[in-house]
Amino acid sequence: MDYDVLILGGGIIGCAVAYELSKYNINIALIEKGYDVANDISFANTAVVYDGSESSSSKMALLEKRGIDIIRKHCKKVNVRYNKIGSLRLFLDESGELLNKVYSDSMERGIDGVRIIDSDELYNVEPSLNLKANKAIYSENTSIISPYNLAVSYAEIAVDNGVNFRLEEEVIDIKTISKGFRVTTNKNKFTCKLVINTIPNESFNDMCGNVTSEMKNKKVKCIIVKKSIGDNLKKIIIEDIDEENSMIKVPISENENLIGIKISDNFSAKLELPERILKNIKKESIVNIFTEVYSENDMLIDDSNLEAGYIKVVGNHYAKISVAPAIAQDIEKKVKVSMNITKKKDYIDKKRETYIFREMTKDQINRIISLDKRYGNIICNCNNISEGEIIDSIRRPLGARTVEGVKRRTGIGLGNCNGSSCNIKIIKILAREMDKSVLDIVDDSMDSQILVGRIKEFNEI
Ligand SMILES: Cc1cc2nc3c(=O)[nH]c(=O)nc-3n(C[C@H](O)[C@H](O)[C@H](O)COP(=O)(O)OP(=O)(O)OC[C@H]3O[C@@H](n4cnc5c(N)ncnc54)[C@H](O)[C@@H]3O)c2cc1C
Repeated sequence: MDYDVLILGGGIIGCAVAYELSKYNINIALIEKGYDVANDISFANTAVVYDGSESSSSKMALLEKRGIDIIRKHCKKVNVRYNKIGSLRLFLDESGELLNKVYSDSMERGIDGVRIIDSDELYNVEPSLNLKANKAIYSENTSIISPYNLAVSYAEIAVDNGVNFRLEEEVIDIKTISKGFRVTTNKNKFTCKLVINTIPNESFNDMCGNVTSEMKNKKVKCIIVKKSIGDNLKKIIIEDIDEENSMIKVPISENENLIGIKISDNFSAKLELPERILKNIKKESIVNIFTEVYSENDMLIDDSNLEAGYIKVVGNHYAKISVAPAIAQDIEKKVKVSMNITKKKDYIDKKRETYIFREMTKDQINRIISLDKRYGNIICNCNNISEGEIIDSIRRPLGARTVEGVKRRTGIGLGNCNGSSCNIKIIKILAREMDKSVLDIVDDSMDSQILVGRIKEFNEI
């Protein structure tokens, strides 16, 4: 056999599974069709880590409750910012029925740190709140993280512990063979004892079909807006308009909020909705508008073919990041029993060090610059990101190979100029580090070439 275990898909779940299984004495590869891992993570670089109090599904709530605990510990371990900002949930329905149900569900699920607050406390917790409400549900647990940084950290540790990440390989077929599987990609054929399929809606032949998750997909309109003067809202704010329609406001950076609006097509007064949460919202402060699919299908592990060596993650959910580490640990337990594996003695449960200038003191920064002058060459003036940080993001295990990969790993290009002054500098550094022509550097995928050719024959671009 080429591998003991093949993990299909390098999304947040695939990376978390690779991390958990890299502790064991087994030969593992992960196959991902993209140039980078976790490439499908939503455009906004911040995710909410839910605690299970908001979920209408008890199964998902319990996964979220376990997930938030694991994520907090993992973020600390791998130095990914975990911001416990809390959330306020308000209800347009004045009967209080929905509010009481959400609260009693949280209590039944044993979620600490969730309570009903009255209007006095509500405006103490969030003095600039524009919405009128007599009561709200306050969860002090709800947090925000950079999901991409967490997924990349999982992947980096897995690589350092011997997992083979096979990027740019698309799985096209899986067949059973004697005591295992043959997985065919667009480039290779691999044999393995166990397949863990984390790819949602794959088009190739799928072994499992016994467990299905009810499809509940909706469109959600996302608006990224610059924070306006007087907007001091610190919490995540969720407003339930009714059982079908809701809005969420998430502070995604120092300067920006994301507003997600989930409303049915026939809901009137859509345009005024964001103003309910953010009073001073103006057309000019809108940075981006996009539509995403919002899924509410329970996520399950289909292990009905585990004896044959096949596990599949089923379902898609708006809290996939929150539940990914709990799903990965459940898969780890199943693999441990099924394959009777032992832990490595030389396992390194640590991410290689990174220098993030915007989180460092002047003295620390100067010490790094004295060791390597490239850390003194600032490439991104909006976010104070140096050439040294960009080079490190490329040279790390499973380093960035695309402009988007550099941006997501370092935070460059996410400032006020939206990358207009640093894009070309990133392209040049990537080309130099990868020994490629600048014309071969892509944004995020194979067909996303940025520079299409020279218009004049200068010696350099
Ligand atoms: C608008 C929006 C907001 C969200 N906000 C939150 C949030 O606040 N909190 C939260 O917890 N979650 C949130 N989610 C959920 C979460 O961001 C995503 O669902 C999840 O991260 C999907 O990304 P992934 O990289 O894990 O991709 P997945 O789709 O789960 O990963 C599958 C991977 O498999 C690869 N692949 C596909 N086909 C093949 C093939 N044939 N061969 C090899 N590889 C293949 C893909 O390239 C991909 O990398 C949100 C989702 C959306 C849409």
